[in-house]
Amino acid sequence: MLLGLPDFEILFPASVGEASAMLAEHGIEAKLLAGGSDLLIAMKHKKKLPRVLINIKRIPGLKDIKTDADGTLVIGALATSADIAAAPDVPEASSALRQAAEVLGTTQIRNIGTIGGNLGNASPSAEFAPPLLCLDAGLTCAGPDGERFLPLDQFFLGPGRSALGPAEVITEIRVPPPPAGAADTYVKHSLRRMDVAMASAAILAAMDGERAATVRIALGAVAPTPFRALKAEAVLSGHPVTEQLIAAAAEAATDESTPIDDIRGYAGYRRGVVRDLVAAGLRQVLAAAGGNEKASA
Ligand SMILES: Cc1cc2nc3c(=O)[nH]c(=O)nc-3n(C[C@H](O)[C@H](O)[C@H](O)COP(=O)(O)OP(=O)(O)OC[C@H]3O[C@@H](n4cnc5c(N)ncnc54)[C@H](O)[C@@H]3O)c2cc1C
Repeated sequence: MLLGLPDFEILFPASVGEASAMLAEHGIEAKLLAGGSDLLIAMKHKKKLPRVLINIKRIPGLKDIKTDADGTLVIGALATSADIAAAPDVPEASSALRQAAEVLGTTQIRNIGTIGGNLGNASPSAEFAPPLLCLDAGLTCAGPDGERFLPLDQFFLGPGRSALGPAEVITEIRVPPPPAGAADTYVKHSLRRMDVAMASAAILAAMDGERAATVRIALGAVAPTPFRALKAEAVLSGHPVTEQLIAAAAEAATDESTPIDDIRGYAGYRRGVVRDLVAAGLRQVLAAAGGNEKASA
């Protein structure tokens, strides 16, 4: 069945300041529009009915992907998944980020959907959230009072809810350099390849000799928001790597998950998927960081 869009007015701001002023003027009746791959579908299904769409795609400078002098990777909010998958700077900072960009939706969605929209939608299954949480990333948000930096771990408040102010626009994602020698990965389980995740995990680790110096684990689609599984991280961080500790960390991540039953999967099944994804991701990343010969022995 073909669904039509409800009536709306569309505005084309020429700058972030203008977009923010339009948001302030139209209040809850307005929504920012980037690629539209989330918002237009929600409008067709009458789940969101903004009267005014503020199309930010013509604002210059929001699509750049670059590395600052201090090594911070800066991704413009309008960079698409395809841009991120192809950007030469991205694998330097993180394989997980590139992997997330490569598995998000379909080719068409990757060509149109932006990272700003992916995070701005505040979905528990937002593909970019777990790798960015592991990388301690943050957002630059511009609003009527100017710019502010918002750490990503303070951004997600609940399904569809974020700490973004009512007239704020995400302008860029800032990714600090990973710890020296760190490796990371992103693993996702979905019914079909193009579907949003039933459960997903990003894992980052760095070794100090035989010990796991840093272990970061972030989970998607198994709680009201994407989150860092801090108890699971603590099981391994600072300890010599063993298969038993990897299994214990995966179990702890499972315990920290609070998935729901929905159309994509039952809660119990999702918890099992978390256990498997985290264990497999940890083995892969610890091996890449040079530390799990013992674990795999
Ligand atoms: C077939 C299909 C498959 C999909 N598969 C996946 C998947 O596997 N994984 C996944 O994570 N998602 C998936 N999606 C969802 C969606 O495509 C992505 O989340 C995409 O990155 C959204 O970006 P967009 O630019 O299209 O956002 P839009 O639809 O334009 O916007 C989404 C929301 O973010 C807000 N927003 C947009 N830009 C900004 C900004 N700069 N600042 C503040 N708020 C902003 C908008 O107001 C809106 O509320 C899928 C969608 C479809 C239709």
